[in-house]
Amino acid sequence: MEIADRELAWCEAEMKKASRELGFGDDWHKALDHVKNQHVEPGRQPALIRDLALEAIEFLGKRDLITIPSLAKETWRMQMMTPERQLLNPFFLGGESIIVSYPTSAMTHEQKLMSMRGNNIHFSRATVFHELIPGHNLQGFMSTRFKPYRGLFRTAFWGEGWALYWELLLWDLNFAQSPENRIGMLFWRMHRCARILFSLGFHLEKMTPQQCVDLLVSASGTNWTMPPPRCAGRLIPPTVRCIRAPICSEAFSSARSNASWSVPAG
Ligand SMILES: [Zn+2]
Repeated sequence: MEIADRELAWCEAEMKKASRELGFGDDWHKALDHVKNQHVEPGRQPALIRDLALEAIEFLGKRDLITIPSLAKETWRMQMMTPERQLLNPFFLGGESIIVSYPTSAMTHEQKLMSMRGNNIHFSRATVFHELIPGHNLQGFMSTRFKPYRGLFRTAFWGEGWALYWELLLWDLNFAQSPENRIGMLFWRMHRCARILFSLGFHLEKMTPQQCVDLLVSASGTNWTMPPPRCAGRLIPPTVRCIRAPICSEAFSSARSNASWSVPAG
């Protein structure tokens, strides 16, 4: 929880920097609101996601950061999330396919707006590479083809740690090109900190479900008129993936430094 507090403070300082660049001063919640309103029209989200996936693949390729088999580049798929599932999981999910949240005809007008704001261009830009390449999709592609017996020992430390490792590395490599892009990446990082704090807080019986939701709103700027996301105040095991991710991401980073693997600049 100390790590989450420290990370959250770092994220907030970065959020304020981006907020000042956008002319919102230290009121980063206003800057976040500005970013949430930058979404595409209904019907255009699949094309956006395709473009973002290709952009991330190109970024990795230009810097020679990881080998991506051409079959992996060609075979990821996309599905739309059902409105029922969006109530439980308002954002994207990924792996073999990327599962996209966006308005459907069954939603009320307010729900449609919320779905579009929650899956705006900049939040999505920071989610697509986590879910596809080099994140969960590439992870699954490689681990089903090479030494598949290791699947017996599969854990969420590996699953989420790998994707978070790339989030942190791409931040360091300036994948974000604008203050809005940076806010998109920071939102997820703050969201993860908040999840760590309230998941542990809830299981240690220090927080009620309502306090968990309140923390998510104040600490990461999540603003829900839809039901809160799947993690808030539910009986998620204390070693839930959001807690395991930072631990394993650290392990990937130190493995990289121990191997003296240098990251090309750019
Ligand atoms: Zn993930």
